[in-house]
Amino acid sequence: MPDSDKTFDAGKLMALKDSHSGYRICPRCGKSLEAREIDGHRRMICPDNECGFVFYQNPIPAAGAIIVENDSVLLVKRSHPPRIGDWCLPAGFMEWKEHPTQTAVRELKEETGLDVKLRGLFEVYSGDDDPRANAVLILYLAEIVGGEMAPGDDAQEVRFFPFTELPDDIAFVAHVQALADYTERFRSET
Ligand SMILES: [Zn+2]
Repeated sequence: MPDSDKTFDAGKLMALKDSHSGYRICPRCGKSLEAREIDGHRRMICPDNECGFVFYQNPIPAAGAIIVENDSVLLVKRSHPPRIGDWCLPAGFMEWKEHPTQTAVRELKEETGLDVKLRGLFEVYSGDDDPRANAVLILYLAEIVGGEMAPGDDAQEVRFFPFTELPDDIAFVAHVQALADYTERFRSET
């Protein structure tokens, strides 16, 4: 299913993202933002000296987990844009004041119905192919300790894929890289 509809136009969002998310109005005082060169970066700033708002466009951290059983990895099929119908590792954006370990456990529960215990940090990835925001993806290794596997709101389907039969349509480059890195680190003997 294509993402380009009235509510989600991936191409348009991607262009906006690369243009300071298209923000033009100061969220503090309502004046028009102006582009200025600050610290070697083109930033949108508020010209009002008393306001002084600067839009620092930073990546958004996300966290998730790699769960492997019997040489098969747990993936979810996306039900929300972007990349509806593509598969990815269960993960999601951090909420305010959350620790990434909490994000990973919460997202696993929301997307897969499973209770998981994190076993340690796997890797950190930087991704710029999501039209909503550039992301820093923090991936943990985890194991299932409870719950019942069932797709949540963000997922159409949840299932284990043998590493030898991974789907072609993986949603994001960082997830493709993570699966390749996992194979290199833990499956090189198989
Ligand atoms: Zn302002």
